[in-house]
Amino acid sequence: MNKKKLFDKRCIVIVFILQLVLINASNYRDLKCQFCANSIKGRYIIQEKKVYHENCYRDHVQLRCDYCDDIINDSYNIDREKKFHKSCYRENILDKCDVCFQPIDSEYVKDHYNNLYHNSHRSSMPLCESCNRLICKAITNGGYSINSQRNICNICWQFVVNKTLVIDQIYDELHREFVNIGIENIPKSIPIILIDDKEELNRIAGVRLSDGIQGYTKYDYQTIGKKIINERFNIYILSNLHELNFRAVLAHELLHVYLFNNNIQMRDSLIEGFCNLGSEYIYNANKNNKMSQLKLKSMFKNNHPEYGEGFRIMNAELKKKGWKNLLNNLEKY
Ligand SMILES: [Zn+2]
Ligand SMILES: [Zn+2]
Ligand SMILES: [Zn+2]
Ligand SMILES: [Zn+2]
Ligand SMILES: [Zn+2]
Repeated sequence: MNKKKLFDKRCIVIVFILQLVLINASNYRDLKCQFCANSIKGRYIIQEKKVYHENCYRDHVQLRCDYCDDIINDSYNIDREKKFHKSCYRENILDKCDVCFQPIDSEYVKDHYNNLYHNSHRSSMPLCESCNRLICKAITNGGYSINSQRNICNICWQFVVNKTLVIDQIYDELHREFVNIGIENIPKSIPIILIDDKEELNRIAGVRLSDGIQGYTKYDYQTIGKKIINERFNIYILSNLHELNFRAVLAHELLHVYLFNNNIQMRDSLIEGFCNLGSEYIYNANKNNKMSQLKLKSMFKNNHPEYGEGFRIMNAELKKKGWKNLLNNLEKY
């Protein structure tokens, strides 16, 4: 999951008017108006060491707010060369927070869905584990927490995979698609067990899995002599994953099954990278989906030596060779 957000600080310039004085011209000084160049008799205005007729000043020099068009007498904001009363600026020009609807005048986050919000909300509200949106009433209409550990927003909730029927259907589809690109000899069906808890996944795996891992394939077998008998696969996947996310995890796990079942020995450090080609395949097939784009981006940026670096190596090989050629030469890696 890509946790990176765009941070920025709104640059708010406040300018103070330096000097604004109304004085009676004394007779013995020959003052010229900076605007009309005529001499000044009577009252005049000084601003920043320049003098003006009252009228010239009011009609031509006096600052006006680009929002309400009224005169600016006080400090003001400049934004893209326009000038605004401080209150006009705050209430009407500054972007509003998509969470609390107040003007954004401090550090803010713009998420991948163009939601804009105060950075401070991030400490009080969770992110959706599927789409990475901030879970709140205004943006996602709330959401759910699973084991008070995982958080899913209400936008993703309608797409989460939990039902056996749906899982079987996705398995069949994926199995068929894989056969089409040459990924063969994967069992027609494998038990898929959904689990709520990430710690449980670690326990089943018997090792501490890398952060962000959402599935695990367990391969059990017995041997007689050198012969493998009673092979059994179980695939464990987190419950309540968005369907797209679920497909990508299943595709990854099925590539593990492919390696086991075809008895292919790859270099250890490239196994996860190869299996991630399965997830990439799913996200590429759904490239118009924002979530796919985010997931792909984070896969290409992941700095894990196997899931990230290994994936980029295998992805480059896939691009060069195509599926068929890659699959036929896996043992060389
Ligand atoms: Zn004048
Ligand atoms: Zn104004
Ligand atoms: Zn806010
Ligand atoms: Zn979501
Ligand atoms: Zn894996």
